Amino acid sequence: MGTILMGSCQTGSRQRSGEEKDFCYSVEKFADLEILRYRVPGFEELSLQQKKLVYYLSQAAIEGRDILFDQHGKHNLTIRRTLEAIYQSYAGDTAAADYKQLVVYLKRVWFSSGIHHHYATDKFLPDFSQEYFTAAVKSLDPSLLPLRDGQTADELLAAIVPVMFDPAVDAKRVNQADGQDLIATSANNFYSGVTQKEAENFYEKLKEPNNPTPVSYGLNSRLVKKDGKIVEEVWKVGGLYAAAIEKIVYWLEKAASVAENDGQKKVIETLIRFYQTGNLKDFDEYSILWTADTSRVDFINGFIETYGDPLGFKGTWEALVNFKNLEATKRTEIISGNAQWFEDNSPVDKRFKKETVTGVSAKVITAAILGGDCYPATPIGINLPNANWIRTLHGSKSVTIENITDAYDKAAQGNGFAQEFYWSQNEVELMNSYGFTTSNMHTDLHECLGHASGKLMPGVGQGALKAYGGTIEEARADLFGLYYIADAKMVELGLLPNDTAYKAEYNKFMTNGLLTQLVRIAPGNNLEEPHMRNRQLIAKWVLEKGAADAVVELKKRDGKTYAVINDYGQLRTLFGQLLAEIQRIRSEGDYSAAKSIVEAYGVKVDADLHSEVLARYQKLDIAPYKGFVNPAYDVVTDKAGEITDVKVRYNEGYAEQMLRYSKDHSWIN
Ligand code: ZN
Repeated sequence: MGTILMGSCQTGSRQRSGEEKDFCYSVEKFADLEILRYRVPGFEELSLQQKKLVYYLSQAAIEGRDILFDQHGKHNLTIRRTLEAIYQSYAGDTAAADYKQLVVYLKRVWFSSGIHHHYATDKFLPDFSQEYFTAAVKSLDPSLLPLRDGQTADELLAAIVPVMFDPAVDAKRVNQADGQDLIATSANNFYSGVTQKEAENFYEKLKEPNNPTPVSYGLNSRLVKKDGKIVEEVWKVGGLYAAAIEKIVYWLEKAASVAENDGQKKVIETLIRFYQTGNLKDFDEYSILWTADTSRVDFINGFIETYGDPLGFKGTWEALVNFKNLEATKRTEIISGNAQWFEDNSPVDKRFKKETVTGVSAKVITAAILGGDCYPATPIGINLPNANWIRTLHGSKSVTIENITDAYDKAAQGNGFAQEFYWSQNEVELMNSYGFTTSNMHTDLHECLGHASGKLMPGVGQGALKAYGGTIEEARADLFGLYYIADAKMVELGLLPNDTAYKAEYNKFMTNGLLTQLVRIAPGNNLEEPHMRNRQLIAKWVLEKGAADAVVELKKRDGKTYAVINDYGQLRTLFGQLLAEIQRIRSEGDYSAAKSIVEAYGVKVDADLHSEVLARYQKLDIAPYKGFVNPAYDVVTDKAGEITDVKVRYNEGYAEQMLRYSKDHSWIN
């Protein structure tokens, strides 16, 4: 559920006439990252009240930034602040190679909200020496360093140097490797002093198998062992992260005062209550109200996704403020309006289908600010809430963030990707003509229909598939989209222009799943991230099952490998067959089938193919991961201090923005 991320290099090169030529989408590149900028079209046309609402919510979206850093690892904030102190005050040679590498490292720490890669979750190591770092820290006035209670610079260094420089310390943020203690081997800050077994037992005991509306156990707390007793330390006002949460609440209260209507006011007030009580029943109540709220301006703010916890309990803090793109939403309304038809006609076994698909509300939105786990790397689609029973009884809200996909698309124009990785000019032209449309359409189908489809058999719990649950769930949603994007219904409903457009998405998906997504991982590594595992699982499965008829082939030319689709119709049939099986696994909670299909198709990487793809990609000089700087919002006030307007500004640099957030919105010690 949750989020769909931009796959690697999903957009090919595309020459389009130069609209908005003066707007620069690319800000800067470093390491494997490119920073982009996105526009907020339509903001000026919002009413003053809506602009104020966006502004207050955007402040609330930034205030929780430190929470995510700390959730990702207990040393992250100290490391970030130490690096920032050097960046801002170092008197040594800033032209030296070590200094330049330190700046790159700091930019990466900002990007990942910590010292682990935001996507791969393994620790990235500094390209400057430990000696250099130690000397730089000691050269600073100690008052500039993040020293705790009488700590000296040496003690600070003793605490963070091994964490930064020793490859063996905190090597992974989220370890999913089967057979290891996933808590002991994960560097995140969700558990302290407990083993995986103890944590699993703790939550097993809380389970109420007969309760049809269980809370999301463990979502908003750290699990710790204290004096031999295991307890939850809750993230709330008066609890852990209180300093940041109080600021969030402060801005949410202001937002509530300018809510668009009473329903939305209640949504915000209920979220405030949840932050105050930490009671997960309040969170469910909030989620239900939020799902029903259809106001123009909307937001996410809280502990939402559990991808960062190998056990899938703990929610990382995230925020997004947005408003509905009225024109583009007509498209998703057509999809949701036909949700029951899609459910009824899917190739899934009848027992696993929803008799009544409840309120799949889907819209296209314009992001106004990204925060927490949505910043700077952001999803392009979101489907919430995550609690299964709420989705069944109250429906869910599904969004496609089109000003973000638009920025990706614009930034990728002319980058040479399609020419390099597609077999023939045919595929390149399909991509140029339909790629943007079909990519958005697949996201819509994934979010509006895929995640919302199907049902669990009685007695099957949300977590039945354990560490494989995320991959299976994403595969389900992707397959639903892949199956239906080729359906005649798409053209009939006016969602796609003709019956060949979908082929652009098929080419992209197979090329990405078999080849190009590999650019996101280091040589020698296997796939870990659920979305990546899911894409390879699907692509390899259909490659194998269709091998006898050469439905899809890995063809070689001049030492380069291509994923070539020979029979699009049969490929669709295979997607349908796999969808039926994946839905069965999910509905029945068949853990051993989930494990065997994910391990067989979704994990292992062919080393030769991997290095070939890396070499081809490197020549193109495209950053495999992208993130965004936010626009800045300036308020205009009258003499009495009343806000009379809010202006959006696009001129803030990456480091400039990160330093501003660290200076003005940093509350956790
Ligand atoms: Zn998804």
